[in-house]
Amino acid sequence: MIAPPPGLTGTTILDLPPDEASATLAEWVQAQGLPSYRAGQIHRRLWAAPIATWDDATDLPLALRSALADAFPLPRLAADTVQQSSDGTRKYLWRLADGEAIESVLIPSGSRRTLCISSQAGCALRCAFCATGRMGYRRNLSPFEIAGQVREIVLENPEDRPTNIVFMGMGEPLLNWEAVSPALTILNSPDGLGIGARHITVSTVGILPGMAGFAKRPEQFRLAISLHATTSAQRLGIMPIEKKYNLEAVLKAAEAFRRRVTFEYVMIGGVNDSDADADRLAGHARRLGALVNILPLHPGGAPELTPTGAPRIRAFAERLRNQGVEATVRRSRGLDIDAACGQLRVEVERRRVREHEGATEPLSP
Ligand code: SF4
Repeated sequence: MIAPPPGLTGTTILDLPPDEASATLAEWVQAQGLPSYRAGQIHRRLWAAPIATWDDATDLPLALRSALADAFPLPRLAADTVQQSSDGTRKYLWRLADGEAIESVLIPSGSRRTLCISSQAGCALRCAFCATGRMGYRRNLSPFEIAGQVREIVLENPEDRPTNIVFMGMGEPLLNWEAVSPALTILNSPDGLGIGARHITVSTVGILPGMAGFAKRPEQFRLAISLHATTSAQRLGIMPIEKKYNLEAVLKAAEAFRRRVTFEYVMIGGVNDSDADADRLAGHARRLGALVNILPLHPGGAPELTPTGAPRIRAFAERLRNQGVEATVRRSRGLDIDAACGQLRVEVERRRVREHEGATEPLSP
């Protein structure tokens, strides 16, 4: 059983993978002397057709709803701040039971709605280009707090139900594998949120023990590697984790994954955006048959880092393609709402400090 996060008195039924929740409910229903079909009716209200409170389960008798509220309270993530970008991107800052805050970003694109979710409050890894890394580690999230980010979106508006999930919000998911693994089951299971495994991507800097655990999962979940550098020395300059799990070891582990992986590559002016970088990156990508996602640098990381200009990004991508590598340049989404992970929490906390101190000047984005 997973230890509850501080501030919660115990695990909730929403922390359990669907088969365990099902067994728990079947036992409870039997102990109450209820017909066995009630267990299935109750179960679908956890994830498949979620409700905010048991009072909303109008297909169940009133007395049963009241008993469920006592036996299986349904915790929520409180929406502290919601920002809508002019490009349709929506960013959520969720307040957790113990006061911690995490972020999710919903990115609509045609019929696809990708939700970028958090797996930890803060992050210990301190990548130089990342706002979350600058705030440091707070704690791991529980399975409910991870999958609950999707549940809240569905509760708010079923039409916004995410079609794709990426673990690219706050935190390093493979440093919280104990909770991320059951959360993946909840996200993917037809009795959970029912999102296809190929539409769920776990992004990691390359935590080797976690990668080994992830590789053992039989579902076709996707793996993305936050590469961001083409040599070990260069990676060490922007990602301290390189000391523990170096570039070559990460590439070897990704090779052993035996499924197509994606490299995430943030372009940082004068750091990792030369022609020589493009050639080395092409070599790494060809070795693994990897796709490359090129990302513009968002504000919020180390102030001395500057973004690579758009023409240079295009030339870099072209150089990769000329060497047979599939490369996509991601548009910056939600720049007007601090949409890079960690930015919103940092801004909201700064604003509260200023309000507390009586400052009145507006915040810069
Ligand atoms: S990029 Fe990811 S792993 Fe690195 S500090 Fe940010 S949240 Fe942590």
